[in-house]
Amino acid sequence: MEEKKELKCLVCDKSEQEVPLIMLTYKGNELRICPQHMPVLIHNPHQLIGKVDGADEFVAG
Ligand SMILES: [Zn+2]
Repeated sequence: MEEKKELKCLVCDKSEQEVPLIMLTYKGNELRICPQHMPVLIHNPHQLIGKVDGADEFVAG
């Protein structure tokens, strides 16, 4: 099974060709988010539930 890592913002799916992306790591996975959506990560992380595996854990924690 081939797993292709796409370099896209986890919120808006914009690629690194469209916007600069910030790389994050969480539980061994690499995540990328664009500067526009950094505030989501900081202030509204519940919006990431369903987009990021384990997001419910860092929302609760
Ligand atoms: Zn974005």
